[in-house]
Amino acid sequence: MRVILIKYGELTTKKGNRNFFIKKLTENLQHKLKKYDVKLVKDRSRMYLEFLDQDLEKIEKIVQNTFGIHKYHLAYMVDTNKEMIESQLLEVAHHHTFQTFKIEVKRSDKTFPISSLEYASHLGGIILKNICNIKVDVHRPDVTFTVEIRQGQSYIYTNSIKAVGGYPVGTQEKGMLMLSGGIDSPVAGYLALKRGMTLDAVYFEAIPHTSIEARNKVIELTKKLVTYTNSIQLHIVPFTALQEEIYKKCKPEYSITMMRRMMYRIMEQLAKKNHGLVIVNGESIGQVASQTLVSMNVINSVTSMPVIRPVACLDKLEIMDIAKKIDTYDISILPYEDCCTVFVPKHPVIHPNIETCLRMEEEFSYQELIDTCVLHTFTLKITDEEEENYQDLL
Ligand code: ATP
Ligand code: MG
Repeated sequence: MRVILIKYGELTTKKGNRNFFIKKLTENLQHKLKKYDVKLVKDRSRMYLEFLDQDLEKIEKIVQNTFGIHKYHLAYMVDTNKEMIESQLLEVAHHHTFQTFKIEVKRSDKTFPISSLEYASHLGGIILKNICNIKVDVHRPDVTFTVEIRQGQSYIYTNSIKAVGGYPVGTQEKGMLMLSGGIDSPVAGYLALKRGMTLDAVYFEAIPHTSIEARNKVIELTKKLVTYTNSIQLHIVPFTALQEEIYKKCKPEYSITMMRRMMYRIMEQLAKKNHGLVIVNGESIGQVASQTLVSMNVINSVTSMPVIRPVACLDKLEIMDIAKKIDTYDISILPYEDCCTVFVPKHPVIHPNIETCLRMEEEFSYQELIDTCVLHTFTLKITDEEEENYQDLL
């Protein structure tokens, strides 16, 4: 029988919060695996996932995409009995192509009658006898066969397989992700989840200037992010009235700066309402006029909440690479306009002045408009119920 073996030593966590980390990881795995016939067995140093053979591929995808797991082993579980161990080991060896190998025996069942070293050389002999053109190399083997002899059951496995890493979702509190239909913000969301945060997403829409297709695109992006977490609440903010007012009252070159100041104010209110501790967005230094350091200062100054910008220092190409890996890229490049592109002025200010912003804000009663936006925000809960498309991240 095959099992997935996850050793706690291969999770990156500090000793002090290991129990909490493992509890969250277990809950998250159980949630993702709930429709499969699986058994999760934990002991002090590891967890084993037992499953039906036909589900292996899907279950492995889930394990690979669960934050907190850096690597795992696909192991064979047999009764602790010499014949069983030896025939299973040979079968595993036959399934690998290698020129050099090493056997590592770990014997925690001391009633097993042969010492680890002795048994390793015995097993090595069996492999050498049965497979041609291979030799032992204890320093740099192509493959290491590990045989763990435990009371009742033994495990045979080879080199570890890489998973997505990060911290289990839920080991941090909630962030509020500003999710547009672009390339950057879904990647920012993915990276925030990777750090263990949970997320709500917020989408500002300006119907009729933006379309229902643009909203659907954001829903599809949210579904992709749900691959890595249990569910995401997507708050949709009706932004039209406020945006039109900005357009009427403010200097055109300041319209984006002003719009983003309003967005941040609304984000802060939504965060308070939904218990979010930080704002997360897809801003990247220097990418556009509103993402210069001066712009960031002028925009950010409307809130004292921390703003996390996971892609701030990445190149567009690096962001695109991640977007492709997490399968959001093809959705992001669909051609529907979002509210930023519709209202974008010819020459947005690169070095906005805070005094100018404050003066313009005195010209209209933006607070009422903001309150109306927050009041009329509606929320969709996006879950992974029908989602089967786990992306291969390796
Ligand atoms: P993206 O590719 O994510 O759309 P961008 O390079 O187009 O980013 P901007 O349009 O300036 O950059 O937006 C910067 C960030 O502001 C976005 O990454 C996103 O986090 C947030 N944002 C912009 N527009 C919206 C919107 N309509 N709804 C929610 N968040 C938005
Ligand atoms: Mg955008």
